[in-house]
Amino acid sequence: VVAPLLLADALLPTGEQADVLVVDGRIARIAPAGADSSDASVEQLDGALLLPALVEGHMHLDKTLFGAGWIPHREGGTVPERIEAEKALRRELTVSVSERARQLAERAIGFGTTRMRCHVDVDNEIGLAGVEALLELRETLRDRLDIQLVAFPQSGILSSPGTAELMEAALGSGVEIVGGLDPAGIDGDVAAHLDVVFDLAGRRGAVDIHLHDHGELGAFELREIARRARALGLEGRVTVSHAYALGELSEGVFAETASALAEAGVAIMTTAPGASAMPPVKRLIEEGVHVFTGNDNVRDAWSPLGTGDMLERAAIVAYRQALATDQDLELAFSLATERAAAALGIDSDYGLREGAAADLVAVRASGIPEAVAAHPVRELVLKGGRPVAKDGRLV
Ligand SMILES: [Zn+2]
Repeated sequence: VVAPLLLADALLPTGEQADVLVVDGRIARIAPAGADSSDASVEQLDGALLLPALVEGHMHLDKTLFGAGWIPHREGGTVPERIEAEKALRRELTVSVSERARQLAERAIGFGTTRMRCHVDVDNEIGLAGVEALLELRETLRDRLDIQLVAFPQSGILSSPGTAELMEAALGSGVEIVGGLDPAGIDGDVAAHLDVVFDLAGRRGAVDIHLHDHGELGAFELREIARRARALGLEGRVTVSHAYALGELSEGVFAETASALAEAGVAIMTTAPGASAMPPVKRLIEEGVHVFTGNDNVRDAWSPLGTGDMLERAAIVAYRQALATDQDLELAFSLATERAAAALGIDSDYGLREGAAADLVAVRASGIPEAVAAHPVRELVLKGGRPVAKDGRLV
């Protein structure tokens, strides 16, 4: 049992000043500043902006090189080239997956992330070693960060024999979500790849597929994923990550594909990648498609960039999509908060509202638009009503 906590003199996103009372890990009351809460301990926010904690929609904790010093990026432009470069690097690393993943997870907590979806590599070289390390880390961090795990076939499924069996074993050991990777581009057989993915998911599972395949081919795969999601009754439980193709289509094909995704409740995760077409965020939302964001690769063999900060990620999405008005910046923020929580299926107790879990973050800003633009230091992070970080550092 945690003692009641009063977050005094908070600035709410609505512009009101309020005191927020947290009892038993939940937001018990949001009241005008100065209300009586005599038996609670007090955390004085001095007018800091209080926000729902950030939700990391797409992370690869097992890949990061944090903890291993600076390792120069190696060349290789295509997805297969990057997969091979990563494998070569992985064989040379002396710092364990557990240690590297922990360092990045702790950074994320310091940035105000309390819930995360993390893809973890499963292939016939590392087997389930990454899965085991992350299951253990998840347990270690359980009071600070909720982690959903995706069994991710980074080397393909059909092209890496034994991977389907390893994915099934991962699902049996506590991993919740079935991953996938470029059914055409990596495995060369859309139907056979998706057969494995959706067979593993069954009728109650969840799916999150990396799709880098471009243009009409990528659009075909998106519609095929949507068709299977509907056939299995998996509406609202399937995500496609990246889906660059959505930024490369003619008007007619875009409309047809977006409507298939909307009807099947297939969500699109975008990082707003630097040098690739990307899904048009506002247009997709207008078409009824669920869109959210995540950091994806953070200082790893795929990218030397990234920090693990979801407010910074919201700013990057805004930058690439030319989101500039306050309303637009609030939309960018929603991709890293409530829209991500909804896509991850963890929105029932999420948000800055009475009754929700007290997963909250405080920053010095006038409102959400400035918080996105400046992504200032996180003065306070609460997980389940308990302070887990202050001024960007774990407590
Ligand atoms: Zn990824």
